Amino acid sequence: MPDTRPRRTFAVISHPDAGKSTLTEALALHARVITEAGAVHGKGDRRATVSDWMAMEKARGISITSAALQFVYRDHVINLVDTPGHSDFSEDTYRVLSAVDSAVMLVDAGKGLEPQTLKLFKVCALRGIPVMTVINKWDRPGLSALELMDLIQEKIKLRPTPLTWPVGEAGDFRGVLDRRTGEFVKYTRTAGGATRAPERRMAADEVDEIDAALWADAVEEHELLGLDEADHDQDRFLAGETTPVMFASALQNFGVAQLLDLLLDIAPDPSPTEGVDGSVRKVEDDFSAFVFKVQSGMNNAHRDRLAYARVVSGAFERGMVVTHASTGRPFATKFAQSVFGRDTQSVETAEPGDIIGFVNAQSLRVGDTVYVGDPIEYPPVPSFAPEHFVTASAGDIGRYKQFRRGIEQLDQEGVVQVLRSDLRGDQNPVLAAVGPMQFEVVEDRMTNEFNSPIRFSRLDYQVARRTDAAGAAALAGVRGVEVLQRSDGTYLALFVDQWRAMVTARDNPDLMLEALPAGGS
Ligand code: GDP
Repeated sequence: MPDTRPRRTFAVISHPDAGKSTLTEALALHARVITEAGAVHGKGDRRATVSDWMAMEKARGISITSAALQFVYRDHVINLVDTPGHSDFSEDTYRVLSAVDSAVMLVDAGKGLEPQTLKLFKVCALRGIPVMTVINKWDRPGLSALELMDLIQEKIKLRPTPLTWPVGEAGDFRGVLDRRTGEFVKYTRTAGGATRAPERRMAADEVDEIDAALWADAVEEHELLGLDEADHDQDRFLAGETTPVMFASALQNFGVAQLLDLLLDIAPDPSPTEGVDGSVRKVEDDFSAFVFKVQSGMNNAHRDRLAYARVVSGAFERGMVVTHASTGRPFATKFAQSVFGRDTQSVETAEPGDIIGFVNAQSLRVGDTVYVGDPIEYPPVPSFAPEHFVTASAGDIGRYKQFRRGIEQLDQEGVVQVLRSDLRGDQNPVLAAVGPMQFEVVEDRMTNEFNSPIRFSRLDYQVARRTDAAGAAALAGVRGVEVLQRSDGTYLALFVDQWRAMVTARDNPDLMLEALPAGGS
């Protein structure tokens, strides 16, 4: 029987060490996990679901690949889509966010808004994804709650609308004032946070003597917030003008059930989606999905290739024959998985909002649509402005064939952007990345998976602008700029620096030189 309970599909955006793994575990503890997809990447043995298909991943203790965790809470099915946790940026991180309906911004109370959080937030803003904020680690000394509200307002220009307000400053966490009900949710420490932290709710007149003074402070601040347009407004939240805020300690499991309740209460449902031709697919229409990530090399013995797709509309059933929009060809979904780590499990049915992995999906690329019924094609997943460029060459010229095949594969997966020009020829493609770690992934996979060592040589470009064939012709031979073509056909003009890009645009007002969405460092 298909599980048609309502869905919530979200991602946690945070800077490394803010507590994303801890929160993920705590969420799973509160809910009933249906499938675990290696979403919890570990730094210790306690976390057994490491998606460690890549030695590099293990060595660094980070999750380079993205996965999803599915669980049931109350009457909902929740899909938590993992974002890679390393401080370096890869394009993967961004693409994951195209698969979610909302995001939870996890902030370390002691550190405030850190760089990676801000970058990920920008992507959410660009895509119109509503963001809820969780101030984590309130059990430890940190900034004041009001300081944190100011930081949010200042740095991301969203109006913070706290739904809970801490009773006790950071490091003296007594509980929170639930601003919607006026109750005191008292926090009780448990040993190591191993079990659900008991949260005791009480009315204002039941607050113990020992918490009375801090409670009074919280009430006062809560009233001030009310005068300051800082109350939750669902429309403004969905419009991306405000961010509801909660205070928590993921390690102590405090605030975690509140977060789940919040997700159910205010986070958006999967919604109708517009195709490139302007037609709209409603969630209850025929099945359709788009691929937001392709991954291979999970198993060295046989090179399987997984394409992760987010269901946009309709019910999916394993075995269904769907149409691949970009080729018009049928695609059999005999092998569909719900688990993306090592331990795989087939998925029988899926609903809008769910993430499915298609096995051996050689033809599926990032951004592709699959559907049944009326044709639909979703807009491409945006690619971000690369800021790091190298030329690549085969480390062993005798293995040039493997080199070519590897580059083509990694290009299709979107591991890096591959740029070419007649001038440079095919032997030395230019690789462009949002974050330099993408090159390390290329190096690792070329060596271990495609048996073709690769050599890079750094190029001095820093800025890319989108141009067209006319721009390519006009800029040929101009100093400090080179035009190359990406495999999706886009022309990119590469400049040594911002200044050169600016001057070129100023001197050639008729040329198309568009900025791409900014990404990396
Ligand atoms: P990630 O890099 O964002 O996945 O962060 P982790 O979940 O691995 O947490 C980083 C560190 O912060 C670990 O040592 C956690 O035990 C600790 N931590 C996470 N949440 C809390 C919290 O609420 N309170 C305290 N005191 N420590 C926390």
